[in-house]
Amino acid sequence: MKKLPLHSRILIGMCLGILWGLLASNFGWVDFTIDWIKPFGSIFVNLLKLVAVPLVLVTIILGISSLSDLTKLTRIGTQTLVLFFSISLICAVIGLLFASSLQPGKYLSAEKRDEIKLKYADDVGSRMGVAEMVKDAGPLQIIEDLVPGNIFFASQDNRNMLQVIFFAILFGLGIVLSPKEKVQGVISFFDGVNEVILKMVNIIMKYAPIGVFALIGALIVDMAGNNPADALAILKVLGIFALVFIAALLAVMFGLYPILVRSFTRFKYLEFLRALVPAQLLAFSTSSSAATLPITLECTEKNLKVREEIAGFVLPLGITINMHGTAVHQAVSAVFIAQAFGHDLTLTQYAIVAFTSVLASMGAPAVPGAGIIMQLMVLGAIGVEAEGLALILAVDRPLDMLRTIPNVVGDALVASIIDKREMEQ
Ligand code: ASP
Repeated sequence: MKKLPLHSRILIGMCLGILWGLLASNFGWVDFTIDWIKPFGSIFVNLLKLVAVPLVLVTIILGISSLSDLTKLTRIGTQTLVLFFSISLICAVIGLLFASSLQPGKYLSAEKRDEIKLKYADDVGSRMGVAEMVKDAGPLQIIEDLVPGNIFFASQDNRNMLQVIFFAILFGLGIVLSPKEKVQGVISFFDGVNEVILKMVNIIMKYAPIGVFALIGALIVDMAGNNPADALAILKVLGIFALVFIAALLAVMFGLYPILVRSFTRFKYLEFLRALVPAQLLAFSTSSSAATLPITLECTEKNLKVREEIAGFVLPLGITINMHGTAVHQAVSAVFIAQAFGHDLTLTQYAIVAFTSVLASMGAPAVPGAGIIMQLMVLGAIGVEAEGLALILAVDRPLDMLRTIPNVVGDALVASIIDKREMEQ
């Protein structure tokens, strides 16, 4: 087992997890799985998150300080933001095209819709509080939230990753503007810390197959519970929505990305995808771009040979504000819910969905289930019933796993595009 490459070991963990999940839900080993297996998955995700915050801090500081001149930094920063926004917008539009032409909401009868609404009312209620805060926030709230009053509080919660990024950028700028001889020691210190964190990641990844096994096994048991027939019934009703979303996601992964990779990077698409296999597997099993960051960085720097100063700047920023899969999901779900509630959206409303989907994807923290909370912002913007969230909650976890893959691949894509452009400068 030790001789196998990392992605094969993760894949084996995943397959065994699926097998365990199916057996456990079939033979009623639910309690055993929840008590004795699930914790190993949570430990794995926590371990990854544990290193994510210091890793973001150190990689951004090192990335910025090695860029050394401010014009280059501004150029890379602007290009990064423009690419994040424009590719996310194209993704949201792809989602819109699929949802508006295939009309998944029309296949849901009013009775089924109300049945699901009732069943998930509590779940929607519990998310409503956070979502209301997002919805009611003033126009400058996002910028206000960027600035932490205390860096230690900022790093306590992975949702505050943007605050850590803000601190790191400011710190990096401080280094660039200071006399070289005075800050050399600081740079060497962070260089050393970076080495140590990467070693920590290596240690944690030895545990990945077991972590992934536990995550997937427990997830299947959670979804199927003691009553797989119930889970299947929900899937039958929401299956068309799920399929339309998956089709739009495939259009991004195998339509849009290959064009961008071939036109703007040094790679062939399959070569590019292959280099990111471990990150994709981890994104799928943890549903969190933040937890996947250590491996995304490793794959992008080692396999794609993107320079450290670019990957170290683009990827940590990308995990929170560049989520292509989430943008697709926001658009497809908003249109699906609108259709299910009998609204015929106007062209202006479609445009609003596209833009708010991008904003929602940029505002969603890189943790499991984050996208769904942001959905209320999109629904609110076009005046669609917030209870509609219930319709997508039931199948969200597997779709979250899928949308996290392009969320991660998209970051490596932007880093590779910028790396090539900078080489040509
Ligand atoms: N789970 C996604 C991520 O971490 C965010 C989302 O829920 O869409 O990238």
